[in-house]
Amino acid sequence: MSMQGKTALVTGGSRGIGRAICLALARRGADVAVNYAGNEAAAQEVANACRALGVRSIAVGANVADAAACGEMVKQVVAELGRLDILVCNAGITRDNLALMMKEEDFDAVIDTNLKGAFSCMKAAYRPMMKQKYGRIIALSSVVALRGNSGQANYAASKAGLIGMCKSFAKELAGRNVTVNLIAPGYINTDMTAALPAAAQESLMASIPMARLGEAEDVANAVCFFAEESAGYITGQVLCVDGGMAV
Ligand code: NDP
Repeated sequence: MSMQGKTALVTGGSRGIGRAICLALARRGADVAVNYAGNEAAAQEVANACRALGVRSIAVGANVADAAACGEMVKQVVAELGRLDILVCNAGITRDNLALMMKEEDFDAVIDTNLKGAFSCMKAAYRPMMKQKYGRIIALSSVVALRGNSGQANYAASKAGLIGMCKSFAKELAGRNVTVNLIAPGYINTDMTAALPAAAQESLMASIPMARLGEAEDVANAVCFFAEESAGYITGQVLCVDGGMAV
C-alpha cells in the first residue's frame, strides 16, 4: 500500500489502459478519480472495482478537449477527495488516414483531445500540486511519437507534442517536487488496437521482438513506477513499454 493517502486522477479511466491504471493505483492504496468522456456506466464500474480494493473512488465526466471542463474536473476532485497528488493524462483517440486524405477536422480532433486535453488537465493540476509541493504527472505518449507511422500523422504529432510539452512542465515544476514523465506504449491489447485492420495488426506484430501484444497491465505497472513517491528524482523522461519495438 505504498500510495496510501495519495489521490489520483486518471483521464480516460473507463476502459483499456486507463482502467488498468486506475486499478493498479487503487491496489497500491491511492484514492482514484476515474474520468470518462461518454461512457459513465463503464467509469462507475471501474470506481466500484477501486472501492472494492479498499480506497475511495469517484467517476468524473469531462471531455478533456474542453479546457473549462478540465478545470472544473480538477476542482471537483480536490473538493471531493481532498487533494490531487497523481495526474495520469491517458485519454486519447485516433482518427487514422493517409495524410493525403486526412480531413482537417480529424487532425484537429486528435490534437485537441490528445495534446491540448493533456495540457488543460496539467494546467488545472499545476496550482494545487505547486501549493502542496508534491505531484506526479504521467502522460501516455506512444512509440509512434518516436518512429512515426504511416496513416497516423495527426496521432504521431499529438504524441510527439506531448513529449516536448511534458519536458517543459517538468522544468517549470521541478523546484516544487512535482515530476512529469511519459510512458510510450507499443502495441497494447485494447479497443483502440482491436479497431485496426487485420493487415495493420499483422505488420505491427512482426515489428515486436517479444512477438506478443502488450497488456494494459504492462503499461499500468510502468505508470505506477513514475507515480510512486520513491521516483521523486526522475523527471522529463520517456519510458517505452513496447516489447522491444522501438529498440
Ligand atoms: P481506448 O480507446 O481503449 O480508451 C480510450 C479512453 O479515453 C476511454 O476511457 C475514453 O472514454 C477516453 N476518452 C476518449 N476521448 C476522451 C475525451 N475527449 N475526454 C475524456 N476521455 C476521453 O484507448 P487505450 O486504452 O488503448 O489507450 C489509452 C491511451 O494510451 C491513449 O492515450 C492512447 O493513445 C495511448 N496508447 C495506446 C496504445 C495501444 O496500443 N492501445 C499504444 C500507444 C499509446 P469513454 O469510455 O468515455 O469513451
